[in-house]
Amino acid sequence: MKSQAQAVVIGGGVVGASVLYHLTEAGWTDVVLLERRHLTAGSTWHAAGGMHTINGDPNVAALQRYTVQLYQDLEKRSGESCGIHLTGEVMLADDTDRLDWLRMTHARGRYLGMETEMITPSEAKELIPFMEEQHFVGALWDPVGGHVDPTGVTKAYAAAARMAGAEVEQNTWVHTIERCKDGTWDLVTDKGTINCEHFVNCGGLWAREVGRMCGLELPILAMEHMYFLTEPIPEIAPWLEATGGHGYGAIDFGGEIYLRVEGEGLLLGTYEQACVPWSVKETPWSFADELLTPDLERIAPSLELGFEHFPIYADAGIQTVVNGPFTFAPDGNPIIGPIRGQPGHWVACGVMAGLSQGGGVGLSMANWMTTGDPGFDIWGMDVARFGDWTTPSYTRTKVMENYRRRFQISFPNEELPAGRPLHTSPIHGRLSDANAVWSASYGLEAALWFQVAGEEPVEEVTFHRSNAFPVVAEEVRAVREGVGLIETTGFAKHQFAGPGARAFLDGVMANRIPAPGRMALTPMLNHQGRLIGDFTVATLADPFDGTERFLVFGSGAAEGYHERWFRSHLPGLRSVSYRPLGHELTGLSIAGPKARDVLASLTDDDVSNEAFRFLDIRHLDLAMTDTLVGRITFTGDLGFEFWVPASLQVRLFDLLMEAGEAHGIRPFGLRALDSMRFDKDFGAWTTEYRPIYTPDEAGMGRFVKPDKGEFIGRDEVLVEREQGPQRRLCAFTLDDALAIDVLGDEPIWHGGEVVGWVTSGGYAHWSRASCALGYVPVAIADATDFEIEVLGVRRRATRRNDPMFDATGSRMRG
Ligand SMILES: Cc1cc2nc3c(=O)[nH]c(=O)nc-3n(C[C@H](O)[C@H](O)[C@H](O)COP(=O)(O)OP(=O)(O)OC[C@H]3O[C@@H](n4cnc5c(N)ncnc54)[C@H](O)[C@@H]3O)c2cc1C
Repeated sequence: MKSQAQAVVIGGGVVGASVLYHLTEAGWTDVVLLERRHLTAGSTWHAAGGMHTINGDPNVAALQRYTVQLYQDLEKRSGESCGIHLTGEVMLADDTDRLDWLRMTHARGRYLGMETEMITPSEAKELIPFMEEQHFVGALWDPVGGHVDPTGVTKAYAAAARMAGAEVEQNTWVHTIERCKDGTWDLVTDKGTINCEHFVNCGGLWAREVGRMCGLELPILAMEHMYFLTEPIPEIAPWLEATGGHGYGAIDFGGEIYLRVEGEGLLLGTYEQACVPWSVKETPWSFADELLTPDLERIAPSLELGFEHFPIYADAGIQTVVNGPFTFAPDGNPIIGPIRGQPGHWVACGVMAGLSQGGGVGLSMANWMTTGDPGFDIWGMDVARFGDWTTPSYTRTKVMENYRRRFQISFPNEELPAGRPLHTSPIHGRLSDANAVWSASYGLEAALWFQVAGEEPVEEVTFHRSNAFPVVAEEVRAVREGVGLIETTGFAKHQFAGPGARAFLDGVMANRIPAPGRMALTPMLNHQGRLIGDFTVATLADPFDGTERFLVFGSGAAEGYHERWFRSHLPGLRSVSYRPLGHELTGLSIAGPKARDVLASLTDDDVSNEAFRFLDIRHLDLAMTDTLVGRITFTGDLGFEFWVPASLQVRLFDLLMEAGEAHGIRPFGLRALDSMRFDKDFGAWTTEYRPIYTPDEAGMGRFVKPDKGEFIGRDEVLVEREQGPQRRLCAFTLDDALAIDVLGDEPIWHGGEVVGWVTSGGYAHWSRASCALGYVPVAIADATDFEIEVLGVRRRATRRNDPMFDATGSRMRG
């Protein structure tokens, strides 16, 4: 074994082998894979080998499609058979909700170039002749699906990587990881030590244990999973003959089963409700090439329904039952990327569908490691989406919930209940008393809307307008006509101080850092000039010595993502002290034309328009409550944000509600806030603003100031400005005849072609319009006549130039 390498991959399952291969493809050849036993010795060897392109997140779906399409090329390069059976798959819906989900998936796939097709139950029966058609209402046909040989695929990745110069060391166990003084890493194995600049934890079933070697508790857990193979079934041979020797795969969402041909029999797997985690505390290092004891009793309820839908199984003899463990993250998506605060430490684990996702994971990881950017929109897989609230018991609760829901549809307005409430702000009880309907983001409970008194605070889950619709309309009206109050504790608050803080922020933010007492909106860009954040930077000065402190407000869900970026760019000399403030600084905001009257009634200070301008921020004494008050709001109205330590939030809430009573103050939630941002065409992080867009594409160009001097991404912005952006974020109003709103990721049509995609949308209650925001190519962005496909129906969508509410901004600024 070498004693030194540029990068070391720990783990020779399908994921580690793919990362190794893709690193060599990206040009890194001084790379080594270390495997404790032999390739595939974890969960890979006993996988059923199924591969699907469908995923609730279209960006993950695109990477799954890449994986499936990679195998033929991989076979050619490596000379190893991957056992590819590209059969195509039928996804069956047994009720209208599941059919809506399939329609949404089908529409979303269009702009990714997926060639799925909606088919009727009788068309599905032509493909799967042994299904009982009467149980189904429709289906989605995906020609890009099938199964492969997991061992063949792993060996093929490793062989191709070796050909390019990589080394694969089997029977080599990494048992200790040490950080060296020069920032490199020593991986200590039973065969000696290897030093490297980068290492990737692809430990699969042992990824938790590898993480713990570096003091990290990764939010993953293995679950037992069963599938069985039947004895040969007489009907299968003729079916194989009629389908070119392969049959077709199927997923029955109602029956919670997947099935396909295996030999002259069938394979059937299920995600049972009575699921069982495996090795909850620690995966034994002695485990390898082993299966677990099957327990058919446990999967009997799923089988009962499955047998009803596919009676052919009921009479077939069971030949083999496979029960094996594999790992999941709390939301079921992989966990990949660099580890915050540990440069050179990367993870690619929690990959629950290694044969569908391994290729895309390997490609993104290799891009990321070699260029600093994953090259795709991998937000849904980024390890940074989880924060410190993911304790092992939280992970267990969520992983079990996710496993049980593997084949259940997720509704766009659905809030999953397991592991909640976890973090709550001090006013949680007050808002619950006001009948709040709750969601959770980055571990913290946040109010979505406030159900009318006497009614259950529950939102019905649907692809259509829910019972929240009329209530949210009232919340919006209260804000636009008077004043409303919303909690803002969920925003991320990054605090910077020290002599180098201003220069640091100036170097990472694209806009100018404001003078003391002022706020500025600013994008943050990566080295490719793409958007990795949109923030409000507030500059605060010490009244005694003028020392500056900065509060950088951003998306709460991206707190860990941004913390990772800030930490990796902080200067080494400790001239900047940085701390995310988490939930210790709590927030409230009031908005609406009466907001100033409410504030004025609580303070002796002058808060008139002239004395307290838009984007001013200062401390005010609000009836004995020292509060940091900023004149800003995301509603696009007159408004203020209030920041206090958690210990003062209840008092401040009561003060504001009392002072607001005379003006009809009403609490409002995130649904109303969203509705009001569509009045104004405001984009938001994770939807309109993501690392695949540039600020000029996203309409944020005015906040980027290349003339201020150097900052990350400046040169790339200048290059783009010379060439012009490729696409543009546009605002649309949809024809509302069907009273359904976009859900996000729908295709945008123009001239009979799909030209772009929706990023988000919904009903703007104040403007009484169904709205969407989305990207289209610049060449056609001046057109006004588009269509957006919502749940299978193409609806007229008129592109607008101006926001529907307060286009001049006089309410916000005046
Ligand atoms: C019954 C069953 C059916 C499945 N069916 C499918 C399917 O149809 N389609 C699909 O896509 N997926 C399926 N899966 C899931 C699939 O098996 C996993 O997604 C995949 O195996 C994950 O691969 P991995 O490389 O991340 O992990 P593993 O396969 O667990 O690989 C990790 C490797 O790392 C090595 N390692 C760990 N720690 C160290 C260390 N410290 N030093 C050196 N080496 C180390 C281990 O020995 C192991 O070989 C199934 C799983 C099961 C159990």
